[in-house]
This record gives sequence, structure tokens and C-alpha cells, in this order.
Amino acid sequence: MSSARIPLESLSRLFKGLLASGVSFSLFDEKTFPGTAHYLKHDIHEETASALEIARLERSLGIRSTYFMLHRSPKNEKIYDEEKTWMDLRAIQALGHEVAMHVDGFTLVERYGSVSSGINAAFLEFRVEGIHIRGANAHGNSVAIHNSNFHPCNFYVELATKNECQDPYWNAHYKKCSIVEKGFQFWADSSVWIGGGVRKCGVYFSDNKGDWVINPGAKSSWKHFDAVNMTPDSVSAIVDKVKGGSCLYLIHPQFYG
Ligand SMILES: [Zn+2]
Repeated sequence: MSSARIPLESLSRLFKGLLASGVSFSLFDEKTFPGTAHYLKHDIHEETASALEIARLERSLGIRSTYFMLHRSPKNEKIYDEEKTWMDLRAIQALGHEVAMHVDGFTLVERYGSVSSGINAAFLEFRVEGIHIRGANAHGNSVAIHNSNFHPCNFYVELATKNECQDPYWNAHYKKCSIVEKGFQFWADSSVWIGGGVRKCGVYFSDNKGDWVINPGAKSSWKHFDAVNMTPDSVSAIVDKVKGGSCLYLIHPQFYG
């Protein structure tokens, strides 16, 4: 893995290769779930400019995707109240993409006393800015997860898994928030919840600085690709792994440009 930013051109080549193979991208929607759907998700943390750039690239190729904006948090305090942040998010929406909520349950508990109250506050702030939220996903707050051993899914009735946390402070929030009651229609972590069911796509694609990795199913190992120096052969190799099935792509805009 290198620390270089990935050129937008690499992403453009990948998208074109996928589209040429017959892949079509969907918003998170029960009709397509997961079947042969390909879902693009983008988590937004400290800045919105690179997200808007990717949104424009996608629009130019006829692709719709979902941008998950982090609610108010120490990570984005510098940009959260800036007018440009919300202008960029409205522009992303106006390009035909969806803006959803990136939820850090740990921060919400600490700031608002519960995940549920924190989500209510965030809904209000997004709505005032003209951002209409239908869905969400979880921010991987690695420090909090490491310190607490509490899995972020375990805040939610519908997503909870085995709880290995020993800390009563966090265990008081185990399954205390219902994503149905909050009015969310989808939740998109590495597994996707839409309207009542949690399922995995056939392939999971994720990026890191300079690196793309794909995992084609539970019995396979991760395959790495150099995204900075993307070659036509790498594009073909990725396309071969994902075409014909469903795939969930996690692409962080801040790694590009
Ligand atoms: Zn995140």
C-alpha cells in the first residue's frame, strides 16, 4: 500500500470498464436488493470538494451513487458549519446522487446521551440545509471500537450481533436504537439492510490510500490492486470478478484527486 492519492483517472477507467461489461449502478433500493445490483458508497469526513468532483465524474458517466455525510463530530468540526459544505452536498444531490448519514454512535452517545437523540439532532441539521436523509451507515471509529470492544452495529436493534463488550457504560446502549423507528429505509455497512433484511453483496470492494482491494466471497482471500497506477489488465481483472453478480463498493473521496 502506498500513501499516494489515487488519480481520478483510475476511477474513471474502472467505472468505464464496469459499465462496458454491462454493470449498472443502483441507489439502495428494495427493488434491486441485492440481485445483480452494484452499489457505490462514499463516506465523507473532513472535506466535501473531492466528493463533489467524484459526483460530477459519475454523473458524466450516467452513474448514481450514495454519499454518507458524517454528522457533527470532532472529525469534521472545522467544516460542519461552513456554507460551502452544504452547498457541495446540495450540488451532489442535484446531480442525481443521494446523500445519506454517516453515523458515529460513540460520538452521539457522548454528545447527546444516546444514539437515538443524536440521530434526531442530525436529521434536523441536515433537513434545515435541504438534505433529505433516507439511509445511513456506520463510521468505523477505530479508537472507540478498540477501547470499548463494542461493535458499532450493536447500537441498533436490527443490526446487532454478538456483544463482547465488558463495559457497562457502552452495554447500556446495546440495541437501544431502532433504525426502523428512526425512519431509515436502508443501512449500508459491509452488509446491507433494506426494509427488514440484512444481506451481503457477492463481492465487497474497498479502497485505501493508493490501494483497491476486493473480496469475492467468504471463501476467497482479498485481492489487491495498485489504484495509483491502474492498468487496463487490472481493470479487466476487477471487472471479471464482479460482473454477473452484485457488488458493494466503498470509495472514500478524500483519497482521490
Ligand atoms: Zn467513516
